[in-house]
Amino acid sequence: MMITDTIVAISTPIGEGAIGIVRMSGPDAFDIVHTIFKSATSKKTINRELVYGHIYSNDQIVDEVMVAKMQSPHTYTKEDIVEINCHGGILPLKEILSLCLKNGARLAERGEFTQRAFLNGRIDLTQAESVMDLISAKTKKGFDLAINQLEGFLSNKIKSIRNQLIVTMGQIEVSIDYPEEDIEEITYNEIRNQLESVLNSIDELLKNAQNGKIIRDGLKTAIIGKPNVGKSSLMNALLKDSRAIVTEIAGTTRDVIEEFMNIGGIPIKLIDTAGIRETEDLVEKIGVERSKGVFNEADLVIFMLNASELISKEDLLLMELVKDRHAIVIINKTDLEIKLDENLISEHLKDKIIIKTSLELEQGIDLVEQAIQQMVFGNNIDMSSTEMVSNSRHISLLENSRDNICDAIGAINNRMPYDFVEVDIKEGIINLGKITGESVEKDLLTNIFSNFCLGK
Ligand code: GDP
Ligand code: ZN
Repeated sequence: MMITDTIVAISTPIGEGAIGIVRMSGPDAFDIVHTIFKSATSKKTINRELVYGHIYSNDQIVDEVMVAKMQSPHTYTKEDIVEINCHGGILPLKEILSLCLKNGARLAERGEFTQRAFLNGRIDLTQAESVMDLISAKTKKGFDLAINQLEGFLSNKIKSIRNQLIVTMGQIEVSIDYPEEDIEEITYNEIRNQLESVLNSIDELLKNAQNGKIIRDGLKTAIIGKPNVGKSSLMNALLKDSRAIVTEIAGTTRDVIEEFMNIGGIPIKLIDTAGIRETEDLVEKIGVERSKGVFNEADLVIFMLNASELISKEDLLLMELVKDRHAIVIINKTDLEIKLDENLISEHLKDKIIIKTSLELEQGIDLVEQAIQQMVFGNNIDMSSTEMVSNSRHISLLENSRDNICDAIGAINNRMPYDFVEVDIKEGIINLGKITGESVEKDLLTNIFSNFCLGK
């Protein structure tokens, strides 16, 4: 694929900041900057040096800037790149952007700089994806996973597994071309050994993938319970205790509040479903799509009860809902006179961790944290590893290729003709290739890069 146009974008967050950067990449980047930039001294713009000067629009100074030119191929995109460091307000940034557009650049799509790095062969797809992960990492742990992926840990593993399969394919092809009865049995065994070794490597990668995914995406935890049991108090207590890294108000439903907290490197996305009561009766509302959505999508449910009240119809209904879920039960307000029948709760929710808290007295919060950690990782998780598959796309392709290899082994065990074995192995090779981008459709690329932020 030949890339002939030059793209431009504002690469720093929109808003007021000390500096902002407009970035261009492509064959015309240098020409365009020479048209709009004049050095303040006699110094010319040279490769990889910042030069001080001004951006002009029809002899009018637009902004005072520092410009850096980076010559291909040793750049982020492998193309000529120009970065214009200007004042960070939205006005200079927009003005400079529009000057670049006027002089022949095109506005970059989301993630297009990184996409070019991929298309120009500087990085593979897993590395490109890790760039987005780096930006959106919610904990240091998540960041470490992404760095490792950017450094090529996953690419190398996948490539080596894929190459093993290609070698096996070659052997089968030779056997198809020269079928000889007496070597057949040996070849079957040999191929099966090779395939089993591939299977082991894939299983090794999949082993910690679920944990990797949680570290990357966070664990969705919904806090549910009747009005006034202490959901918001719990949320605040947990957030105060941990280092809240990201604060966000859910974009779609205003009355569901989401916050990220960090428990031992795991980003936990807490969702307070408090808003449910504001519009309608909880019992009715629980059946409504929205609350159902939050509840159903949650990886973990924290179900809260009020120790100072008798169990109500609503409690029973909620209990029924959490029965078959990953759930932690909290009996709150233990500082008040106890009216709740605890036995009834433990009978109903036999296998659940039940924790007593008094958020008023700040008691039991550490137990809740421990329980969350326990629920996520069980007892045997190696949190020191930074080599984990974490992206759902990679996980599902690995699972597909695993199925292909199992099918191939099955075909061998049934002494099927080589062609049958070959078909499955070929599928496996294609699926692994999709992870690194060696065999990948255009739609998929568009889809992946559209999740990037602008200017990256
Ligand atoms: P939510 O409606 O479930 O979000 O409940 P809130 O967190 O808003 O709490 C409702 C009320 O209960 C507030 O006045 C809290 O201060 C109070 N509360 C929360 N936890 C406790 C507790 O452990 N003991 C007592 N006595 N009051 C609590
Ligand atoms: Zn609340």
